[in-house]
Amino acid sequence: MSIMDRLEGLPQKFPGLVRAAERALGLFPFLERQAKNIPAIRRALEAEYDSVMSRLEHSLKPYDDDFERYRSLPASGVSRTKILRDMRRLLEREKPAWEEGFVSGAVYHGDQEHIAFLNKVYALNSQSNPLHSDLWPSASKFEAEIVSMTARMLGAPAYANPEAASEICGAVSSGGTESILLAMKAYRDRAQSRFGITQPEFVVPSTAHAAFDKAARYFGIRKRTVPVDENSRVDVSRVARAINGNTICLVGSAPNFPHGCIDPIEELSELARSHGIGFHTDACLGGFVLPWAEKLGHRVPRFDFRLPGVTSMSADTHKFGYAAKGTSVVLYRGRELRHFQYYTTTEWPGGMYFSPTFAGSRPGALSAACWAAMVSMGEQGYLEATRKILKTATQIRNAIERVPGLRIIGDPLWVIAFESDQWDVYRIMDFMTGRGWNLNGLHKPPAVHICVTLRHTAPGVAGRFERDLLAAVEHVRANPAEKSGMAPVYGMAATLPARSVVKDLLERYMDVLYRP
Ligand SMILES: *Cc1c(COP(=O)(O)O)cnc(C)c1O
Repeated sequence: MSIMDRLEGLPQKFPGLVRAAERALGLFPFLERQAKNIPAIRRALEAEYDSVMSRLEHSLKPYDDDFERYRSLPASGVSRTKILRDMRRLLEREKPAWEEGFVSGAVYHGDQEHIAFLNKVYALNSQSNPLHSDLWPSASKFEAEIVSMTARMLGAPAYANPEAASEICGAVSSGGTESILLAMKAYRDRAQSRFGITQPEFVVPSTAHAAFDKAARYFGIRKRTVPVDENSRVDVSRVARAINGNTICLVGSAPNFPHGCIDPIEELSELARSHGIGFHTDACLGGFVLPWAEKLGHRVPRFDFRLPGVTSMSADTHKFGYAAKGTSVVLYRGRELRHFQYYTTTEWPGGMYFSPTFAGSRPGALSAACWAAMVSMGEQGYLEATRKILKTATQIRNAIERVPGLRIIGDPLWVIAFESDQWDVYRIMDFMTGRGWNLNGLHKPPAVHICVTLRHTAPGVAGRFERDLLAAVEHVRANPAEKSGMAPVYGMAATLPARSVVKDLLERYMDVLYRP
């Protein structure tokens, strides 16, 4: 019996022991570190990690036997024909899962004609680099208009006076994570420069995206996390209590990634305003859905720049904006805040240098494709796409609600998470995986979600989801003792008190990904 097998199930068998261990490890994390430094334990753990990874390796590296591997450069160039042929073979293997609507999120549009159009746009612009704005003024045109169109969609006033200091402005970034990192860096630098804050902090709901934790670690900001209620909305009074003289901003999600629920943005942003600090609405997931959901008559609380306390937002064009992967928009109330995002240097021998985001050179073709996606969709296109997605999401939500023992978390629109105190939801997910589905496993609490996209709106997909879900629950009910697949790993990763073991496993997982 391996350590993993022994660890798994331990929390259920000895809850008291685990609580004690958790308390000890929480109070004395060095105990865990000490234990891992004992050579025998170290060796046993390493052996265990190797065995877990070798079990995973086959699914992470499915092409080892079927395709050439280039561990070093080929001596002479491989023919373009062969490269393209191999890539087509790879595509054919990977495409069915997302194209046929088995995957939560990931591919948000995916219609053949839309993809072919974006590919043409990419091809026309593949040499463009916004860093050289003199060579490609087209790139700055596209980016300025992407920002402006997104801002207008998210409650910025019509262009009355674009020179006004309070103008809603922003930048195009490489994705939601970068948009969030940029905004948090801007708040940090503004707080330092304006108020001399050197020990910055921000307050985030526990359900806020991991990108905020990344920002905290990259930029030396202390993150104060506030739990959410049973409907996955953050408790405003607890946020208020977490504010102090070092707080640079508050954060809310519209909606959050795990459960698709919207934080009380109006109250949170007013709280921030009353303290004279910033408020960031993370609308990475909802920015290109909620405005249209509202127009379609759904109950959508205000979350955008119509609220005076909202001072920045992130909205992902590469999700429900239906652009190719690699773009997002970060928006600010006022250019001053955007200036704290910018990078400039006047002393470099390489010349006067500036770049608005983290990267230097950037793919202008992705901005072109993003612009083309937005302009070709238009208001009507987004409205229609949202209508279809919300209709399918309602079918899926109703299907889940009909299953006895499953509970939907909160009151979501199109990202639907369910939990259960009767069944192991990870085993339900495993069974669905066996039927071709790729859903998101969540923890704290254990739950599973599906993020509905245009891929699920094709006829028959929602019905297939319901049939497979019913079969999954029936299977788990009929086979209570069965152990297989990822369920034990999820169960263990969620409950194991030795968090550094889980961290070690995640690092080794990434190492496997980089194994050629
Ligand atoms: C996807 C997402 C992000 C991060 O986006 P990436 O594009 O993956 O970096 C941030 N917040 C929310 C709510 C998201 O759904």
